[in-house]
Amino acid sequence: MTEHLLFNAELLWPAALLLLGTLALSGFLLHRKQRRTDQNNASNNNASSEDWHAHDADTLLQRLQARPEGLSQEEVRRRFAQFGPNSLPEAKPRSPLLRFLSQFNNVLIYVLLAAAAVTMALAHWLDSGVIFGVVLINALIGYLQEGKAEDALRAIRNMLSPHAVTLRDGHRITLPAAELVPGDIVLLQSGDKVPADLRLMQVKGLQIQEAVLTGESVAVGKQIEPVAPEAVLGDRSDMAYSGTLVTSGQGRGLVVATGGQTEIGRISRLVAGVEQLTTPLLRQMAQFGRWLTMAIIVIAAATFLFGVLLRGYTATQMFLAAVGLAVAAIPEGLPAIMTITLAIGVQRMASRNAIIRRLPAVETLGAVTVICSDKTGTLTRNEMTVRSVTTSAGLFEVSGVGYDPHGGFTLDGRDIQLADYPVLDELTRAALLCNDAGLRQDNGNWILEGDPTEGALLTLGLKAGLDPDFQSREWPRTDVIPFESEHRFMATLHHDHAGHGFVYIKGAPERLLEMCSMQRQHGEDMPLDPEYWQQQMERMANQGQRLLAVGFKLADAEHRELRFADVETGLTLLGVVGMLDPPREDAISAIQRCRSAGIQVKMITGDHAATAWAIGKMMGMGGGLPPLTGADIEAMSDDQLRDAAGQVELFARFSPEHKLRLVQALQANGQVVAMTGDGVNDAPALKRADVGTAMGHNGTEAAKEAAEMVLADDNFASITHAVEEGRTVYDNLRKAILFILPTNGGEALCIIAAIMFGFSELPLTPVQILWVNMITAVTLALALAFEPTEPMVMRRPPRDPSKPILSRLFVWRILFVSLILVTGTFGLFLWEINQGADIATARTVAVNTLVAFEIFYLFNSRYITASVFNRSGLLGNRYALMATGVLVLFQLGFTYLSPLQTLFGTAAIDLETWGHILLVASSVLFLVEAEKAVVRRVEGRLNLQRFI
Ligand code: ADP
Ligand code: MG
Repeated sequence: MTEHLLFNAELLWPAALLLLGTLALSGFLLHRKQRRTDQNNASNNNASSEDWHAHDADTLLQRLQARPEGLSQEEVRRRFAQFGPNSLPEAKPRSPLLRFLSQFNNVLIYVLLAAAAVTMALAHWLDSGVIFGVVLINALIGYLQEGKAEDALRAIRNMLSPHAVTLRDGHRITLPAAELVPGDIVLLQSGDKVPADLRLMQVKGLQIQEAVLTGESVAVGKQIEPVAPEAVLGDRSDMAYSGTLVTSGQGRGLVVATGGQTEIGRISRLVAGVEQLTTPLLRQMAQFGRWLTMAIIVIAAATFLFGVLLRGYTATQMFLAAVGLAVAAIPEGLPAIMTITLAIGVQRMASRNAIIRRLPAVETLGAVTVICSDKTGTLTRNEMTVRSVTTSAGLFEVSGVGYDPHGGFTLDGRDIQLADYPVLDELTRAALLCNDAGLRQDNGNWILEGDPTEGALLTLGLKAGLDPDFQSREWPRTDVIPFESEHRFMATLHHDHAGHGFVYIKGAPERLLEMCSMQRQHGEDMPLDPEYWQQQMERMANQGQRLLAVGFKLADAEHRELRFADVETGLTLLGVVGMLDPPREDAISAIQRCRSAGIQVKMITGDHAATAWAIGKMMGMGGGLPPLTGADIEAMSDDQLRDAAGQVELFARFSPEHKLRLVQALQANGQVVAMTGDGVNDAPALKRADVGTAMGHNGTEAAKEAAEMVLADDNFASITHAVEEGRTVYDNLRKAILFILPTNGGEALCIIAAIMFGFSELPLTPVQILWVNMITAVTLALALAFEPTEPMVMRRPPRDPSKPILSRLFVWRILFVSLILVTGTFGLFLWEINQGADIATARTVAVNTLVAFEIFYLFNSRYITASVFNRSGLLGNRYALMATGVLVLFQLGFTYLSPLQTLFGTAAIDLETWGHILLVASSVLFLVEAEKAVVRRVEGRLNLQRFI
């Protein structure tokens, strides 16, 4: 390659200028884009917003031609056509040119560009052309793959589109928030994300956290009176703005702005950014890439000096050799492969009902050591059926299945008439009225709208022969204190048409027993007999029933607003209801799988301890230790809690703050914690946990916002699947590294060896090296991104997150394989030269040997330590087989097509030579498998987990 070389200093300058020009252009474009967004921001801030807050609600109803009972369907259609969907304008993606240019923003690429400039300066036009070509192809592949990965993530994010409850034609319906139009009436409750800008018309303890707009993380109280026109956003207490979170209470408001017209819509252009396609591991690798580049430059410089000073090469010769070395050592395909692997993993998780909201969670999932799961709905099916009711008259059994209201009551095994038991009758009415759920029949199936606990109570009322519509007409609801897992009860105030008032209350029995001083007995209020109730409740809870007490209190006709103080004391207990929520079958097997994967599972519930104990037993949990209750842990110091948290598996009567303390205690023990949650108050625990997991079905928007992952089906088994996929992604990322780096190592060593031995010809030219790197990256390495889960993945303990990615085994394997590759490639090259082959033929043999090595090594790389000498090891990844086929075609073209021969300086080789190549190259398969066998034995003997 040194034959016709003249060092052409004049060409160095144009080349350097070209390079600088490219960099300057990209810098300029980035800068301009920044300035443009700054200008956008400025103009947005000046845009005046409407003065909705300064008018009273009735004026606005008129202005928007709306009605308190909601718009009609035709009107909605008309307005939808006029205003468009209520969704934020998509964040404008980076312009394609910028996205393309950003592909060059990588130190590895800088070195390649510099190499191209150097070859240009040396008038090696072909080399510089190919290097440029490869850099371009690499950028193009990176650009396309990144685009695909971003699309995939966007599609997954769309799976999480929020819903809104609205009134239309007087009916309450739940619909996608995107379908709201100005003039709609929206109902808010705690945990909701406000779906549009609303002028509030009715509030009940409504508190909203407006940090997205104001940066203020303390929730603000809302009211309905107009405020001063000049009030700033944070002071408009009669408005609820799109994108903010309801932290407590309820409210009702008129939609005044949707989509891009909302306050958040106005500013979203400046906050909306595409999520960075990165994770800790990718950052670690980027860091490693920079470090590697420095090392490569130093080694290339050292080789240059060595060659010139000790081996007598000319400076020009050594320049080209140094370029070849740099090109050989740079793993240019690695970043793209890692991004793709990650995106594929996220997609796989989504197809198994685990939707990733923040990418780093993909990796963290693989390291999870404890899963803390809610009982109700996640470990159990959340299909509640009332099985028993205790009143002062005794324990009644209730028959029937699911929400189907066919069934009746028995006492001591005998059917009873409700009329004979007035307290039971009163209790079922209370259960019906203190209730927000709805049941409807669809093809003979009973479909629940609302909370399953309340659905069960509704069914109970129907079984007692009550008609919900009639009851609520007779006893209209005047006010309500909604259920919140913090205070664990719900109360409603009712007035009949004669003005008689009633408060009905239902909630956790411990709570209600504190509030009740009387119990209803034979139509009279008698003093409460706590012992009787405790005994009955034990009996019900021991069967795994979820307990709920029901009480009541008389109220005055003028009493129109229900406050906490009204229900704190003086209630009369009607009875206790026990409902059964059967465990999910697949959750039971998932718990087993977690155990064998070295992951502890803990059950957390707001239920009674005895219920937790009984359900735990059904699910094979508990480990013989009784449940810890919220009250227990309040009495513990942090150290005591740390001890207990490590052992106990069941946690009962837990409120959200207890969850937070539990996460902290487990983390202090060095655990990596996944924690589920659904309510607005779970947000702190979800944020604190390593993998906060929210429920897609029954979860609030607030919980989803705080979570790293959302379960589309609320099922515990999906967490286990996500962990499995998380481990797989991590494995595949490591496999990609383990596969790609030795290739570069082998190539670099070939160059170094040639110089050491004083060869005048390199065994591989820079363009041939680039060919190998590119062609194997898009075929073989890509196949590893699709690598299916290893069979043993859930049989080994979780990964220690503090361990570096390049473990000792990895460094060793990379060196070992690099040595095999250089020995075989350089050896065959030498042999060909000694046989009298010309340099083109010898190089063609070298390139083909290298590629054949990689094909065999790909199969080794499918499992890190397990043997691949079995059916699934050799045939288990069809992408690997397809990639091999494609690569063989490429190599045949590279060897025999004359344009490629000219471009890459190759020559045709004969069949016998192919035989040599295969013989030599297949050695890597056996050598690496032998090495794995040794590693497995050492690992088995010493249990050397840390070695890997
Ligand atoms: P979990 O979901 O872990 O079972 P919750 O915090 O939802 O716990 O519920 C705790 C307790 O609060 C339940 O055992 C029940 O007694 C009571 N409860 C649950 N839902 C309601 C409701 N809608 N209204 C009144 N009380 C409820
Ligand atoms: Mg619950």
